[in-house]
Amino acid sequence: MTERGQLPIAEPAEVRRAAVRLIRRDGRVFAALIALNALAAGAGLIGPWLLGRIIDEVRAGGGVDVVDRLALAILISALAQLALTRYARNVGHRFGERTAARVREQFVERALALRNSVVERAGTGDLTARGTADVERVAVTLRDAGPDVFIAGVQALLIVGAIFVLDPVLGACGLVGLVGIGFAFRWYLRRARTAYLAAEAATSALAEQVAATAAGARTVEAFGLQRRRIAECRQAIERSRRTRLRTLFLRSVLFPAVDVWYVIPVVGVLLIGGVLLDQGAVSLGTVVTAALYLRQLSQPLDTILLWIEQLQSSGASFARVEGLAQVVQTAPAARSGHAPDDGRIVVAGTRFAYDGGPDVLRGIDLAVRPGERLAVVGPSGAGKTTLSRLIAGIDEPRTGTVTVGGVPVAELAPEQLRRHVVLVTQEHHVFLGTVRDNLLIAAPAADDEIRAALTAVEADWFHELPHGLDTELGDGALSLDGAQAQQLALARVVLADPHTVILDEATALLDPQTARHTERALAAILDGRTVIAIAHRLHTAEDADRVAVMEDGRLSELGTHDELLAADGAYAALWRSWHGSGV
Ligand code: ADP
Repeated sequence: MTERGQLPIAEPAEVRRAAVRLIRRDGRVFAALIALNALAAGAGLIGPWLLGRIIDEVRAGGGVDVVDRLALAILISALAQLALTRYARNVGHRFGERTAARVREQFVERALALRNSVVERAGTGDLTARGTADVERVAVTLRDAGPDVFIAGVQALLIVGAIFVLDPVLGACGLVGLVGIGFAFRWYLRRARTAYLAAEAATSALAEQVAATAAGARTVEAFGLQRRRIAECRQAIERSRRTRLRTLFLRSVLFPAVDVWYVIPVVGVLLIGGVLLDQGAVSLGTVVTAALYLRQLSQPLDTILLWIEQLQSSGASFARVEGLAQVVQTAPAARSGHAPDDGRIVVAGTRFAYDGGPDVLRGIDLAVRPGERLAVVGPSGAGKTTLSRLIAGIDEPRTGTVTVGGVPVAELAPEQLRRHVVLVTQEHHVFLGTVRDNLLIAAPAADDEIRAALTAVEADWFHELPHGLDTELGDGALSLDGAQAQQLALARVVLADPHTVILDEATALLDPQTARHTERALAAILDGRTVIAIAHRLHTAEDADRVAVMEDGRLSELGTHDELLAADGAYAALWRSWHGSGV
């Protein structure tokens, strides 16, 4: 997979904007979350302060009843903190779950809106890794790490604030510790984003490598490529290991540094507090309270530390999940508000190259009349399939235009486009779900229409399904054979009801008997539509209204079968050799 084809990764600013958008969608709950956490943290500060008061009261000769009252107040504040923290956590987790669900839904929506060509070039491994591991990591962070770290942040700020209120000099000691920890974090965070992104990219590459090897196992075996594939997988594993070691190194510097900076302020408060106490500037209670607060500070900071790796890697994951938005934004689906005014397909001055390679279509001009049957023939590699992909809107021409009813096909949204043009190839897919789900993908339809579509493509087997249209298909449920799956695909075409159907070897992989069966079904659904048939073999060309001959990325001949035979050019030669070979 080339670098060029990879799906983009969102920039930090874009990631921040996306996070703010997510928070805004639940703005009120988020505000309640902040308030609850502040209250919980505030309740936590009361205990140490009361303890300091007890010490001062006792030193001043206060009686047991004063101590009892203060101790009772400590107990109440602890209970209040417990109740508030529990409630805040509950609200936090619910907020996290809801937001995680939004991230998931958005990802699925965006993934479905991606153009085929984008997915083909980026590789499904990357998209799958983003849709599974990355989305899951973001979800875990939103559910667990996010609320915890958030609470910890509020607590830490309140604690330091409280020490300042007690005594500014002691507060300064606490601040020194925080600044030290701040520097350690800064050092870490500056390096972490790149390191974690590299680690994630290496994981995706490894997944891609393994998936490609598994998918092409037979080819690998047939060409004796095992050693090469193993070596490539080893390399991918090694890259993954190296990038992970780098993140481990960053953590192994951060953790001890933070530990040291915990202790320094406590030592500072005790030393400086001792001196101030001697001078009578502070009470013993104040010093004890400040030391207790600093001890308390380690708790939220530990929480942050515990989750920092999770936060970093989920930040990188979120950037990858959000990266999809950029492709969708630039996807042309949203560009056009026009609707095609008729079914006329015009290819004008069209050139196309795959990924910056040489042009494989080199200036094609072709107008297909509504209702016409056009056969496109030519030697293998001439660009027939590429032309069909351009007319079906899968790829965009590099220069020139491909329009349907005056509107560039690449500017139509997929659901709009498939009402006009549908490409039928030998690749068809049965989706996990019921027969009905599998057909409603094409267009909304009533059960009667679905049954009529299945009947039109001669899929008589559907009468025998155990649960009719509710029968589950796919892994672990009823599985269809190739011909049935192809009929399902054709029934989708009937439901989408496009005026133009492009056929690219739709029946080539089927055995002859099934192919005949499917071709009958095809004939039924093609009636009354414009048909552009890519004829890798010539038997469909004779029946077509016109034949277009492609050679080396150009349209070399265009006319009826008889005209082209009479012209005695490339088509006549192909025809003679085809007949001669008796295929
Ligand atoms: P045909 O359908 O006439 O056999 P194609 O349209 O498949 O021809 O191919 C035209 C040219 O484009 C060939 O040279 C082929 O190697 C190249 N090509 C086809 N698909 C791709 C692709 N995905 N990436 C790069 N080059 C491609």
